Amino acid sequence: MEQILSDRRLRDSVALVTGGGRGIGRAISEALAAAGARLAVADIDVVAAQEVADELPNGSISVQMDVSRPVSVQEGVERTVERLGRIDILVNNAGITRDGLLMRMSEDDWDAVLDINLKGVFNCCKAAVRPMIKARRGRIISISSVVGTNGNPGQANYAASKAGILGLTRSLARELAGRNITVNAVAPGFIATEMTDKLPEGARQAMLSQVPLGRPGTPQDVARAVVFLASEDASYITGQVLAVNGGMAM
Ligand code: NAP
Repeated sequence: MEQILSDRRLRDSVALVTGGGRGIGRAISEALAAAGARLAVADIDVVAAQEVADELPNGSISVQMDVSRPVSVQEGVERTVERLGRIDILVNNAGITRDGLLMRMSEDDWDAVLDINLKGVFNCCKAAVRPMIKARRGRIISISSVVGTNGNPGQANYAASKAGILGLTRSLARELAGRNITVNAVAPGFIATEMTDKLPEGARQAMLSQVPLGRPGTPQDVARAVVFLASEDASYITGQVLAVNGGMAM
């Protein structure tokens, strides 16, 4: 009988995870490593990235990278290829929030969120696609959000950036399919991390009341979806958005 899901599915793969130093990115790095991949844990905070890399089992490295700066991204990708030989999987996870109602949102808050959350994905895809095209294989997975499709008061900048990721994902899926590179997004709902710890208790409870499964998601819930999309088991899936939200949006 054909084996449906392979064990150690990512053996011999190299994955670069942005914002891998904590939160969801850290869980994604750990899950990809547990599935057999060697990791380049990329983060603007290289100390956090190094701590994660040190705990991973199989010769993983840390990379200092500010995703909003093309030069920093290019250097990080080059370092990864130099040290680990290639990049098979790119996970665009780095993201920030700068919340505020539109009337009070500064141009700086708009620009910072768009520069990191959306232009950062563009920068990383552009740099990582070159070695993937050479190898004629690749997986790109970007972390969007339920807010990208549903919107959220006080998050116009964040919602626009996360919606932008979906258009970028679908366009790249079409551009790169012929090179055997799949491009997908994961859209988490309400996940317990430092990002959501910052929310006032009232806002947390309001979010939770919208989750049919009745609990916040964990970073590992998101990480398992990423491992699936990164694996051979997902080789016929491209241009899709996988929601990991406990039923918050259907
Ligand atoms: P987090 O705990 O704030 O972690 C984000 C990581 O990205 C941090 O390590 C951060 O470094 C790093 N980072 C920030 N700016 C960067 C830059 N310019 N270049 C490289 N790395 C940078 O966030 P999280 O909750 O794990 O979220 C991860 C992703 O999931 C984000 O894209 C977020 O929008 C998305 N998401 C989260 C939720 C949720 O409920 N938590 C829901 C939907 C989507 P520093 O520590 O130095 O800032």
